[in-house]
Amino acid sequence: MKLFIPGPVTVKEDVLNQMATALIGHRTQDASQLQESITRKLQKLMYTKNEILLSTTSGSGLMEGTIRSLTKKKAAVFSIGAFGDRWFKMAKVNNIEADKFSVPMGEATTPKMVEDALKTGEYDLVTITHNETSTGVMNPIYEISEIVKKYPDVIFCVDAVSSLGGVKIPVDELGIDVCITSTQKCLGLPPGLAICSISDKGINRAKGIGPRGMYLDLLSIYEYLKKKHYQYPSTPNLSLMFALDYQLGKILDEGLENRFNRHLEMANYVRDWAKENFDLFADENHLSNTLTTIKNTKEISIKDLNKKLETRGFLISNGYGDLKEKTFRIAHMADTTLDEVKELLNVIEEFL
Ligand SMILES: *Cc1c(COP(=O)(O)O)cnc(C)c1O
Repeated sequence: MKLFIPGPVTVKEDVLNQMATALIGHRTQDASQLQESITRKLQKLMYTKNEILLSTTSGSGLMEGTIRSLTKKKAAVFSIGAFGDRWFKMAKVNNIEADKFSVPMGEATTPKMVEDALKTGEYDLVTITHNETSTGVMNPIYEISEIVKKYPDVIFCVDAVSSLGGVKIPVDELGIDVCITSTQKCLGLPPGLAICSISDKGINRAKGIGPRGMYLDLLSIYEYLKKKHYQYPSTPNLSLMFALDYQLGKILDEGLENRFNRHLEMANYVRDWAKENFDLFADENHLSNTLTTIKNTKEISIKDLNKKLETRGFLISNGYGDLKEKTFRIAHMADTTLDEVKELLNVIEEFL
């Protein structure tokens, strides 16, 4: 089955096989070396000198850990869909002060919205969804970062779960304090690990904060990693770490610019196809490079389409939540190629 859903994605067989590597002790030098190798490669992919932390959760784990460990006064959560809403909910259930700033579905957060919120002085942490997987919108992260940089006391957190590895996110240049992703989307791995970079500013903020929980406390993970030379307080997902280390090597071998261009090429192709056959759902100025949300203007049954596609070995996604039958989503991320995208679209046309 070729997966064109926004995670989990199809994983190459050689990458999958890495998960069958014989296990090592998590308190050995080999474990430290594995983490250190992963860290060096992720720092290249993220264009950062910041420390890298892993968590044996999916991406949501580090999203919750971040908002809980680093908000002192109040968080400004900018939501453009389901995953922005999730970050707000995480704040609320953890008793973290937070306000949510939303836009209509299909639109992006504007730099002005961020400026208006931050200039009140009420907030000391901002969360941005870089690429909203429910709507197919990619936020203008460069413009937003220019605003956040004007407020040095604000911690800048970015959910890059469905974009890191498919789109360039220069973490240090953008001044991102915590950049979060997980393994099962653009990185092309099975689910089971969350990944983040964290700045010194982020670490210092956590030091001044009361109860931060335990398993997802970014400061405890960081301090343990520093003290015990790249090991974790609890047993990490070593099998997936072998695969991550290997796959990051492949990503760097492909060349980051090549990889990002391949994603853009696939996106352009799907967008053109969507405009010819249906319509695009998202604001055309802020389209995602890693997935396309298509307006179901022909009012076909997405459920039936997917059933037919399954018989040919493909799977796409219906719309998210209320958009279930009103839109459908085609992910073009990780190791998917333009030829595979063309193959899928040809089969869809056949069924149409
Ligand atoms: C998938 C996704 C998440 C949630 O990640 P999990 O790894 O499933 O916990 C968060 N944000 C975005 C933008 C996503 O696409």
